[in-house]
Amino acid sequence: MGPEVSVIILKIKLMHPKLRSTYRTFLQEVARKLIPCSPHFDIEVLCNKLGAKIVKVSREDYRSATLINTQQGYEILIPQEHNKKQLSPFQRFLIAHELGHLLLEREYSTGPISQSDYWQYEVLCDYFARLILLPEDYIESKIRTTPSSPKDRLGLSSYIARDAQVPWPAVAHRIVECDSKYALFRIMIKPSSDRIKFLLNVSTLKDKEFQKSIFYNDDNELGRLLCRLKNNSFLPLHKSVLDHPSVIKKFPIFQKAIQGGAIRLKDDEIRLIVQFS
Ligand SMILES: [Zn+2]
Repeated sequence: MGPEVSVIILKIKLMHPKLRSTYRTFLQEVARKLIPCSPHFDIEVLCNKLGAKIVKVSREDYRSATLINTQQGYEILIPQEHNKKQLSPFQRFLIAHELGHLLLEREYSTGPISQSDYWQYEVLCDYFARLILLPEDYIESKIRTTPSSPKDRLGLSSYIARDAQVPWPAVAHRIVECDSKYALFRIMIKPSSDRIKFLLNVSTLKDKEFQKSIFYNDDNELGRLLCRLKNNSFLPLHKSVLDHPSVIKKFPIFQKAIQGGAIRLKDDEIRLIVQFS
């Protein structure tokens, strides 16, 4: 492979930032025009309006959603869930995400070419899904009318996930998009032989340090406190815990934390909120 070929590959690998912002603005405008103020709308009706048909397919064949352009028009293939007729929050999110791909393809004849390009489209389409499933007026009025303590913000995120039928990680990101003082996290609890393992697998922060981060009950101050948290109870996390040297060593950004809190939902899941200065 000669040098010219490498240059061409580099060029097509990354979506130009200018293009990214054009696509983002386009998706924002479409979302604003398409969606009423309430999140309680039928996404199948929206798909029809946009010329797409939802087709449920076997989970064995499809683990995630796919958009295909057939002679009859666009089809969004989504994995079937337990023969249920009603769409689950996850399925609704998948459909909304695919609608983002459809709109970009139709307006700009564009879609991912390479692996790194693919992730940039994924980020854009996830953003579009949040915009239409959690309309701005709805989310802003909920934030405005709920006290802003960590406990209330965390409670609000669970309420919205149920009320709007949207997966919790998408709600967490949407809340932070409207109120950037907070960051939300999901931690899965994985018992290993003699220690408790915490796997941080959702973060509304862009920092790489949080992606799939692992810590243990005896690693730091946060681990020590989280392992004692009982189901459905809320644990306030004071600044002294979050900016404890043992915690900052793992998560440097917690130096800027003011306060936070955690709630253990089921045996295996903790939701964590941190307020920054
Ligand atoms: Zn996608």
